[in-house]
Amino acid sequence: MEHAHAAITPAPGAPTGPGLRPAGGAPFYAEQGGECALFAHCFTQQLPLLIKGPTGCGKTRFVEHMAARLGRPLITVSCHDDLSAADLVGRHLIGHGNTVWSDGPLTRAVRSGAILYLDEVVEARKDTTVVLHPLADDRRLLPIERTGELLKAPPEFMLVISYNPGYQNLLKGLKPSTRQRFTALTLDYPAPAVERAILEREGHASPALAARLVQLAQALRRLTDHELEETASTRLLVMAARLVTSGLPLRDACRAAVVDALTDDTETVRALDEVVRAVV
Ligand code: ADP
Repeated sequence: MEHAHAAITPAPGAPTGPGLRPAGGAPFYAEQGGECALFAHCFTQQLPLLIKGPTGCGKTRFVEHMAARLGRPLITVSCHDDLSAADLVGRHLIGHGNTVWSDGPLTRAVRSGAILYLDEVVEARKDTTVVLHPLADDRRLLPIERTGELLKAPPEFMLVISYNPGYQNLLKGLKPSTRQRFTALTLDYPAPAVERAILEREGHASPALAARLVQLAQALRRLTDHELEETASTRLLVMAARLVTSGLPLRDACRAAVVDALTDDTETVRALDEVVRAVV
């Protein structure tokens, strides 16, 4: 999202896309710039969505917010390197002397017209992305080999996947045949004004505390681009704000929630600590 267009979430009650309920009743999400409308258009056009962005920048919260505003149930799966196609689609379970079919989260989402969110999809085994293909293009079909069923996704079903295109994922990536089935949205850490608003709301920070933490994040993000796999995320700032609000001194909170959370390397800890001392 372009930071130049960043704005705090539109006034509660102001829908910004087709079929959207007011933002007020949904989990709090501060918009970075137009992503709520994009999501709503994808939903009505039955297009799957790929959300790219660093860890802790708000991807999961965004999907939770949109599911509530579209009035659809949300099923979330955190992908890992052991996640197989059967984990998503379902399997036969043996119990009380007979076998019963048990739907996996993907099948449940298709049957019930839910929004299915696959978090960190590049972590999953390659065979899992293959089961997404016929669902992600205009066929919108889920073949269940084991039961011989062929499910047609209802219009309310939506497939959303996310991944963090940080350098550790460069090699894994998504196969072109998979990614080209998805509309794509890039999120980044929110612009300073938006991030301050998030810290005030989520971390119960005063405006002054929010401003200092955002300043710190900006300094760390400049520094750590080259030295760390991941840098100070909005999630870590929210945690620091909560510790301060709870009574911990600011530097201790930053050490615990940001510095030690980011690295185990003593040299890097020292470098980050210096930035903390210079800024807060
Ligand atoms: P991701 O899925 O990108 O790793 P999350 O959505 O879990 O990140 O965000 C982590 C936390 O940061 C959330 O629980 C929330 O407190 C806060 N947060 C980050 N971005 C936003 C945002 N735009 N609006 C509201 N809260 C946010």
